[in-house]
Amino acid sequence: MGLRPNLLTRRAAGVASTTLALLLSTAAVGVVPAASAFSAAPGGTCVEPADVHAGARVKAGGAAKHEPNELTATQIKEREADLAAALRERASRRTGAVAPLATVTIPVVVHVIQEDSTRVGGNIPDSMINNQIAVLNQAYSGATGGAPTAFAFQLSKINRVVNPSWYPIIDGSSAERAMKTALREGGKNTLNLYLGDVTPGLLGWATFPQRRLSSTDGVVVLNESLPGGTEANYNQGDTATHEVGHWLNLYHTFQGGCSGSGDGVADTPAEATPAYECPTGRNTCSAPGLDPITNFMDYTYDSCMHQFTPGQASRMLTAWNAYRAA
Ligand SMILES: [Zn+2]
Repeated sequence: MGLRPNLLTRRAAGVASTTLALLLSTAAVGVVPAASAFSAAPGGTCVEPADVHAGARVKAGGAAKHEPNELTATQIKEREADLAAALRERASRRTGAVAPLATVTIPVVVHVIQEDSTRVGGNIPDSMINNQIAVLNQAYSGATGGAPTAFAFQLSKINRVVNPSWYPIIDGSSAERAMKTALREGGKNTLNLYLGDVTPGLLGWATFPQRRLSSTDGVVVLNESLPGGTEANYNQGDTATHEVGHWLNLYHTFQGGCSGSGDGVADTPAEATPAYECPTGRNTCSAPGLDPITNFMDYTYDSCMHQFTPGQASRMLTAWNAYRAA
């Protein structure tokens, strides 16, 4: 596709296009469409859909429309049950000899998807990728003000691919599936990061961990959201930080709104809806605590978000040991 839509078009079209994505199973949750297009997952199936996406990160401007990324209560229930089952499965296999990992260095394979050799065609410099890895390490170590997590990231490879039929990367498309199937490397512990122009209105998306490795496992991020990119307000690298959070089993801080178990993390105050930009003193639920607008798993500007909580760090490590550890 040679057409590069302007930002306004990207935003407007993004809301519509994401309503078409629907993917559910016991092990996968999706970019949830608007309620009118939603249908419940078949109960009890173990079928893994070819395309399994976690919540995508959307830009400001989508706020007035249907939020396409909030998971349903049914999806959350299924995912939490699967996590418990995965932990039991691991425990039964680990007969005392193998201790759960406490610290993890994640190898990162970066696939730079390009339409051609130009910058607008996706040819971002290596320096942006190196800076992105640094941003991930800062965020996940707590260096930006949040809780330290168990995770560090090590760039193992930059794979540049010129293929116009894979560009832009469209969430849930057959081209995305073909791209990932052709390119994905490593085991469950390997982060495959796909960079390119993406579905209009989205900044990126990710798969949640699954018990059986899917060829679609990985994270897709808008190339110009990397540090120094051209995507205004979202060009400090926190889209990747957010999407990797999903890849490590985190939900959005606004998951479930004000009621229920929310994002499954006790130390992220409940939040009724996503926060955009960088609101001051936002407090949308009567439960204690202001909205966690500075959390990486909200939708605020990169300049606004800078932390994970200890509860999120714990949840990610638990999920690592359940799903991604060797
Ligand atoms: Zn998200």
